[in-house]
Amino acid sequence: MSTSSCSYIILPQSLYTNFCESTQPEGWVKRISIVAQRLIAWIPPENDRFRDHVTLELMQNPTMLCCSHTFDQSTIEQLEACPMCRDNSLWGMPNLLVKQMIEDWKEAPIPTLDGFREINRDEELAVQIQELARRYIDKGHYDQGLKAYGEALSYTNSLEAYAVIPLLYDMLDEPEKAGLACLNLARYQIEKGQLQEASQTLECAKEMAREPLNIDPVLAGLRLRVNPTKEQIRAAMESAAQQKDLGAARTIYKQVIAVSLYAFDAYKALGPLLEGKEQLCVYIEAAKHAALAGEFVLANDFMTTAERLECPAEMTPEQWRGYAEYITERDIDCTNALEYVKLLAQTNEVNRCP
Ligand SMILES: [Zn+2]
Repeated sequence: MSTSSCSYIILPQSLYTNFCESTQPEGWVKRISIVAQRLIAWIPPENDRFRDHVTLELMQNPTMLCCSHTFDQSTIEQLEACPMCRDNSLWGMPNLLVKQMIEDWKEAPIPTLDGFREINRDEELAVQIQELARRYIDKGHYDQGLKAYGEALSYTNSLEAYAVIPLLYDMLDEPEKAGLACLNLARYQIEKGQLQEASQTLECAKEMAREPLNIDPVLAGLRLRVNPTKEQIRAAMESAAQQKDLGAARTIYKQVIAVSLYAFDAYKALGPLLEGKEQLCVYIEAAKHAALAGEFVLANDFMTTAERLECPAEMTPEQWRGYAEYITERDIDCTNALEYVKLLAQTNEVNRCP
């Protein structure tokens, strides 16, 4: 095989971009934010009365019919009679009381570090306010304590101070806010590079929030980064297999591959969950790493699978043949394998980071 054949293995960079996404801490911060958003939008069961009975959505403009049943204005426009009592005089007026209750519930924010400005930093004052907060808490005035902690966070961005917030919500029996505060804390910890701590915080978030939080992908990623052992990989693979949400499963397999390029089981499981270019990319990556590891039969299997996919425009049949030839040739004659493998690795490295 001449060296010119290595041109066969230059893959378009576009194939890699998706694949590399969200295996990095910045990606997790984004993911945590998404989960937090979902949590904010979540309607706790005790507030089910804020839902429209027909659409089950949170009411935007609650309107009370003259039969005294309340629906969202947009629902009433579609009705012929009240779905609760069949009264057909669809005359109604805004239910301002319910509207106000919904607004109040939506606007009760949880403390964040958003209010902190470096220019206001005053650790001494923050400590004093926290002492006051603790005295409120000792006397059972959790609401006051929470308020005071929120105030202290204008003067310090210490994560030890923030860590009290989820505990307070837990004491106040507000699980969704406790979970949300945990997610915030985990986000701050990841931003500071405290991955171990962040993974513990997320464990807490899972326990505190009443609604199941789908943060397994982030958790798996953090654990693998902190401690990339075989046990962690096995645990991550099991977690991925148990996910009902295929997106979550995909992300976990990607996290495994990001820390262990030779986790061939992860490629095998991930491939069928993907489509198009991304799917192709995974099988090619798998084949490449199998070849690098000397697992030529496996490499061939991955290549065969890749070839059978809906062929993407980026790879010409000639390139496919070249790549497959490269892989299969190594199976027969391994004498120059290392050289080719080095070349292959370099080519892909160059291709990946222009
Ligand atoms: Zn009615």
